[in-house]
Amino acid sequence: MSTQDSKDLMEKMIAKNPGENEFHQAVSEVLESLEPLLKQRPEYLNAKILDRIIEPDRQIMFRVTWTDDNGVIQVNRGYRVQFNSAIGPYKGGMRLHPSVNLGILKFLGFEQVFKNALTGLPMGGAKGGSDFNPKGKSDAEVMRFCQSFMNELYRHIGPNTDIPAGDIGVGAREIGYLYGQYKKITNRFESVLTGKSINWGGSLVRPEATGYGCTYFCEEMLRTKKLDLKCKTVAISGSGNVAQYAVQKVTQLGGKVVTMSDSNGTIFDTSGIDTKKLEFIMELKNGKRGRVSEYAEKYKCEYWEGQRPRKAKCDIALPCATQNGLDENDAKMLIDNGVIAVAEGANMPSTPGAVELFIKNGVLFGPGKAANAGGVATSGLEMCQNHIGLRWPAEEVDHQLQQIMVNIHKNVAEAAKKYGSPGNYVVGANIAGFVKVADAMMDQGII
Ligand code: NDP
Repeated sequence: MSTQDSKDLMEKMIAKNPGENEFHQAVSEVLESLEPLLKQRPEYLNAKILDRIIEPDRQIMFRVTWTDDNGVIQVNRGYRVQFNSAIGPYKGGMRLHPSVNLGILKFLGFEQVFKNALTGLPMGGAKGGSDFNPKGKSDAEVMRFCQSFMNELYRHIGPNTDIPAGDIGVGAREIGYLYGQYKKITNRFESVLTGKSINWGGSLVRPEATGYGCTYFCEEMLRTKKLDLKCKTVAISGSGNVAQYAVQKVTQLGGKVVTMSDSNGTIFDTSGIDTKKLEFIMELKNGKRGRVSEYAEKYKCEYWEGQRPRKAKCDIALPCATQNGLDENDAKMLIDNGVIAVAEGANMPSTPGAVELFIKNGVLFGPGKAANAGGVATSGLEMCQNHIGLRWPAEEVDHQLQQIMVNIHKNVAEAAKKYGSPGNYVVGANIAGFVKVADAMMDQGII
């Protein structure tokens, strides 16, 4: 594909999907990475695979009506973007956050297609959610919202069709309410959601999987330079599911985590967020649903109101909050402070300018598609356990997760090398994920 063809396709895509900036950003990165592959495999172009792969299979939008604790009727918008099912049933999380819109879910669904392919498991890509804000809502309000959401969603999903999971704002509580309503409507107890609680079909290590997987991927990158996490200073952003378990695994592997954050600010604890302090964060975030500033008050460390963690001097950065939270200025600061590796626990947390700087400056950079694929991979393992009616011990699931992350790293590194960009995990992840999905689409004809 010539640069001009790629430009034309981007222009057409932007005109067809106006205002969906995150989606444009995600597509642009993939198209750019594919150029060396397409020179060798022109059959993808003849079959219009690029035009087809950037168009979701279907996009479902619906009204979600629920009543708050004051008896006032509230209306939100629900979505499910079923992006591509060439290699398996649709799979991807549900996000509940006021920023949710169609463009953000299309970017997430598009990324999910490639990520799921990288896991080696048979899963297509999807994403969904709503602009509902769970923050500050009572449990009863969250339950009524989830029930109303599922009243529509249930007709579009199923264990062999589409299996949603959690994402920002959707944890064990929300998955429970969603699953309960699905079961009530359909009268079926089946593997239709992942991230379920352990005593009714969940998998051990699923809550830990994204943060653990990201840390394993980071270790694999470090290994290529004969380094590891021992005694490294690590800056983590976010304080939700992914961030919490990244902190746990980094600490287990001998690293010292000095930052965590939420949308209000960052804590900077030079003595390290150890196991005991992490327990406090988990209780604060998962139980009390409080702010990280309370950690700073308790442990008398620095708190940077309204700021991100990038000015913290660190060897390794694991951005685990949300998209585009690490820009060029942040990247410059990290590089000036000697960062060796960045692995994305979140989806697309680094802007294109930041990614370019990391790669130019020889920083080991693991893009989200590869580095955070451990979550969905373990969801795949949860589905597998549900299908065979067994539950594997934690060591078994963790071992499989580690193996999957090692394989992803290997496949991505090999693809990058084969197509002329050794060490460039962005190119490697996009090409390795694309080839798998594109080949399946070619096999399945013009549909
Ligand atoms: P959680 O809801 O558990 O936590 C999200 C964290 O990000 C919170 O600390 C939150 O702070 C912060 N955050 C959210 N929005 C913003 C914002 N606009 N600005 C600053 N901080 C923000 O979500 P997860 O940990 O599950 O997800 C984190 C990231 O990881 C997302 O990008 C998600 O797509 C990605 N991911 C998650 C997977 C999973 O298995 N959960 C799998 C793969 C990727 P606050 O509390 O203030 O909102």
